[in-house]
Amino acid sequence: MAINEQEIQEIVRSVLKGMGTTAAAPAAPKAPEKKLLGIFETADEAIAAAKAAQKEIQPMPLEFREKIIANIRKKTLENAKLLSELAVEETGMGNVGHKIIKHQLVAEKTPGTEDLKTIAWSGDRGLTLTEMGPWGVIGAVCPSTNPTCTVICNSIGMLAAGNAVVFMPHPSAKNCSNLAIDMVNRASVEVGGPENIVTAVAEPTMDVSNYIFKHKDVDMLCATGGPGVVTAVLSSGKRAMGAGAGNPPVLVDETANIPKAAQDIINGCTFDNNLPCIAEKEVVVVDTVADELIYHMEQNGCYHASPEEVQKLVDTVLDDKNGKKVISRKCVGRSAKVLLGKIGVTVGDEVRCIIFEGEKTHPLIWTELMMPILGIVRVKNVDEGIAVAVELEHGNRHSAHMHSTNINNLTRFGKAIDTAIFVKNAPSYAALGFGGEGYPTFTICSRTGEGLTSAKSFTKARRCVMGDALCIR
Ligand code: NAD
Repeated sequence: MAINEQEIQEIVRSVLKGMGTTAAAPAAPKAPEKKLLGIFETADEAIAAAKAAQKEIQPMPLEFREKIIANIRKKTLENAKLLSELAVEETGMGNVGHKIIKHQLVAEKTPGTEDLKTIAWSGDRGLTLTEMGPWGVIGAVCPSTNPTCTVICNSIGMLAAGNAVVFMPHPSAKNCSNLAIDMVNRASVEVGGPENIVTAVAEPTMDVSNYIFKHKDVDMLCATGGPGVVTAVLSSGKRAMGAGAGNPPVLVDETANIPKAAQDIINGCTFDNNLPCIAEKEVVVVDTVADELIYHMEQNGCYHASPEEVQKLVDTVLDDKNGKKVISRKCVGRSAKVLLGKIGVTVGDEVRCIIFEGEKTHPLIWTELMMPILGIVRVKNVDEGIAVAVELEHGNRHSAHMHSTNINNLTRFGKAIDTAIFVKNAPSYAALGFGGEGYPTFTICSRTGEGLTSAKSFTKARRCVMGDALCIR
């Protein structure tokens, strides 16, 4: 019996209801009423199933991998709204409209098998190729901030490269992540491919992840998350890639188109309520244009907070943990309106961002907040601006942005900050191919150097040599 998309979505909603959809759900949620494909009780089962699927993927013609990927893209577009709503509902973070755009980007622009390039040498002594082949089973850790898109984007790239994947979703985003995993497997099965090309454990925990990190049948690891998990995978003794934290500064000099800079910065900063690790997190601006920039930010939906309100925000959005300021999970990815509501300020939906001026060491400037709160640091000239922005990036080498029409200033900042992403005269999301050239990914491996990952990042090189033949020059 054929069922239509609406019926599938209703089933999905009922399954999720059965699983519990909030981080505060009881420790042992009810078992799902319907089985989600690829979701197992134990890590051993999840790994064994992925390993079996990989044995089918590896010999598969590239054309067939593309057929599965095409169906993943199609289903992602069909389910973009549902997945976005569920991610916001479960995590309490982000913005449904922007998450839909992220799913569309992933579906339409994530590179597939065309990303795998062969290098060839031919001559009198024959033909030598470097072919990019799979690792096998990849263990992939996913964040709470961007759960479903990371699963789908990693699935496309890792599968294109011939791997199967055991995902380790964030516990507070397990339901929507598991649903995305189910969707990827259904996409494969529907076109005649194997089940379990991607798998996960129904109840993700740190212990489960640490077990998977060490498992002999997991061939490489890829962590998308904060510094803790990146260090954990890098300590595993296996090949590991780490997409870690950032605190992207945006530098504005006196040569910039200031009205456009203000608009771009606010558009980038407020995208998905500032959850993307690449999003503008603080502004460094040359004094002579600072007032003009702030004026145009106010024209673009910014609420300029008073010093008293900023102090209330500090007390609200940061928690004390062993004498250190850490971000409150209850505030990450919330809208400006919600954050202002928490300090007793009522505003309308037109307010997209909270701005304030402060020193570089101000806790709301120094800390990676992942909220639409944008601190502004004045500097006397571009040299001081470059130095301050480099400090604020904390050596993550992740992302930085600049608005300027001076090529020398842009070049000097690019060299000094040395980040995986450097966007000039555009919102940060242009780096993901949204309003910019290039492809998207939500796994930006700044710490281990792969940068914006794609299928080729998930391969290992094989040299294939034919002696004394096949050179026909
Ligand atoms: P998080 O670090 O809290 O969690 C990420 C994942 O790692 C989760 O699945 C979590 O369960 C797991 N984890 C955390 N510590 C672990 C440990 N010691 N051992 C095993 N697993 C562990 O991050 P989050 O709040 O979900 O995401 C936000 C952070 O991730 C931000 O710092 C953001 O900059 C970063 N991020 C980076 C990228 C990137 O591409 N570089 C993308 C998304 C998010």
